[in-house]
Amino acid sequence: MKVLVVNAGSSSIKYQVFDMTTETVLAKGLVDRVGIPGTTLEHKPAGKDEVVIKKDLPDHTEGMRLVLEVLTNEEYGVIKSMDEIGAVGHRVVHGGESFAQSVIIDDHVKKVIRDCFDIAPLHNPPNLMGIEACQALMPNVPHVAVFDTAFHQTMEPANYLYALPYEVYEKYHVRRYGFHGTSHYYVSHRAADMLGKPYEECKIITLHLGNGASMAAIKNGKVVDTTMGFTPLEGLVMGTRSGDIDPAIVFYLMEKLGMDTKEANNYFNKKCGMLGLSGVSNDLRDILEAAKSGNYRAQIALEVYYNRVKGYIGNYIAKLNGCDCLVFTAGVGENGWDIRENICKDLDYLGIKIDPEKNKVRGKEVDVAAEDSKVRIFVIPTNEELVIARDTYRLAQGK
Ligand code: AMP
Repeated sequence: MKVLVVNAGSSSIKYQVFDMTTETVLAKGLVDRVGIPGTTLEHKPAGKDEVVIKKDLPDHTEGMRLVLEVLTNEEYGVIKSMDEIGAVGHRVVHGGESFAQSVIIDDHVKKVIRDCFDIAPLHNPPNLMGIEACQALMPNVPHVAVFDTAFHQTMEPANYLYALPYEVYEKYHVRRYGFHGTSHYYVSHRAADMLGKPYEECKIITLHLGNGASMAAIKNGKVVDTTMGFTPLEGLVMGTRSGDIDPAIVFYLMEKLGMDTKEANNYFNKKCGMLGLSGVSNDLRDILEAAKSGNYRAQIALEVYYNRVKGYIGNYIAKLNGCDCLVFTAGVGENGWDIRENICKDLDYLGIKIDPEKNKVRGKEVDVAAEDSKVRIFVIPTNEELVIARDTYRLAQGK
């Protein structure tokens, strides 16, 4: 069976086509600037040259229509007709407390996705647009929702509750949810394989360090804790998000900078983090460069970044009462060997010792811990699309 994986954002659609008999990617691509003048589609068929198409498209339905045309194109397509696609898997950011697993999309599932618009206003509306566009064009195949929040639903109240009046949890569902769940799920399972231990017996700390960043503590197959909370704003220092701050800063700066709630939301999500601290960029490569050439703000931004991650490693080792391995993944975690080295520096008391030579790798599945490190340190490239494709394939077969 061939499975189409779709990740629809507010103005973009990412897609991949998998052949599930071999789990190979036949093609992947991105439609960018959907609904904005200058729409482009970049299509990469496996083993062939990339194709770029420029054509203004008003909405996600037209975006998906172009994707389907490209996939069946005689020259650069990868399937003869859309009938070859047996199921479609959709990335959905927020499933609230309703879904701890992926599900076949029906009216109830769409209602839950819609009910979560309020708590995921940037992500769930475009995710649903993508689903509805695909359902309109492919009405006869199962569509599956794979939620970023699902994996973290195994957290206990002790870790997901905030110290707020309990009624706001009951009435408004204000609690910690956690995100990047599909990535934490994938890399933690790979880590158990690399440890050679059953997943249900492992203590794993996963570090998904990309432009958005989060960590998770996983024990005996369950998420104990994760750094993102009610929204992806909590936790680590990210490209443009502040991560943890004293909540009183929000009120203080709203008054000082004259921001309303919408502006404040934008400020803490888009203007803070590494961008705000360094004044250089949200991209850690630029910040590392600037730090090397003596830029103080870039240097101090990196120190804050490392410290926050180290703090959570200590926190999670305490909560797990031990740790078999750390797992670095996503853009920074997979490629930034100097960042991995700095995070792991001076953690030997906790049994964490990196091998600086082994660590000089990018984007490979490898153990970079020193021989005598009690805790293994893995670099594992994430593959959220493969998890979506596998869940979609399984559910489409009625399993
Ligand atoms: P992601 O959100 O997972 O796609 O990760 C994107 C981020 O990875 C970029 O913003 C960069 O900061 C970061 N990145 C990519 N390559 C490197 C590298 N060699 N060193 C440090 N950071 C990197």
